[in-house]
Amino acid sequence: MSGYRLRANVLICGKIEVLTGLHIGGGRGKTEIGGVDQPVIRDPASGFPYLPGSSIRGKMRMLLEYALCLVGLSPRDKREPGSVHECGKPDCPVCQIFGTAAEEGGLGPSRLIVRDAFPDAQTQEFWKELDTELLYTEYKGENYLDRLTSRANPRFFERVVPNSWFNFEMVYSVFNFPEVDDLGMLPYVFQGMRLLEHSALGGHGSRGYGKVRFHLYMENASLPLYKPEDYGRGKIRLPDLDKVDRKTLRTLDGVDVDELVADLRKKLPA
Ligand SMILES: [Zn+2]
Repeated sequence: MSGYRLRANVLICGKIEVLTGLHIGGGRGKTEIGGVDQPVIRDPASGFPYLPGSSIRGKMRMLLEYALCLVGLSPRDKREPGSVHECGKPDCPVCQIFGTAAEEGGLGPSRLIVRDAFPDAQTQEFWKELDTELLYTEYKGENYLDRLTSRANPRFFERVVPNSWFNFEMVYSVFNFPEVDDLGMLPYVFQGMRLLEHSALGGHGSRGYGKVRFHLYMENASLPLYKPEDYGRGKIRLPDLDKVDRKTLRTLDGVDVDELVADLRKKLPA
């Protein structure tokens, strides 16, 4: 056979809407402001909170591992059944989409890249108008009752406020590895996104934090797909998500993933 080849990159992008206060920790130290002992992660250049790609991707991976009954099975660290799943089998969606440490080989690089998601222009304006003691965020006190004395122990969490929208971008690469149907695995990416909507992004999800909703950017009812040769011809024009009207984006309810995959197959070079 001929060599391994990139067949196309599929762009999965749009906006993530924050529906309930969201906390992705930024560590402590000099970022401590206004008595908050749990600050959120921020872009040091702009001061704006953002959603790290690793948080989005890591949560999607974990939820898929549970959905596919892979938790405790072939964990990366053989001593720790709770560690990241990694079997390296060619029919394993998790290993293929998210990658393995490559000891097994044969699967090629991880197919899914998830970028850090930054607030859109409208959200930046909204944050600047926020009447709050913190910079662009809210803080929420949580009381833990001492079971014996009933004394309240307050802790303060910084949160990204509801109705904040972040531009997100994922790139899904389609290769020609034998025995591996990359486009056929794309529905698992959507499954991960949907599972994330019914779970939570960031910390304290069981206490109501971090409910999010994806809004997908589509072109002609499909996803943008770029072939390797397009990159050499100046044909790549990524959508400017700040200029895209939120109302033109689709929630995942409105996306028929099987139809989408069938359409992408037609566009894919052999
Ligand atoms: Zn696996």
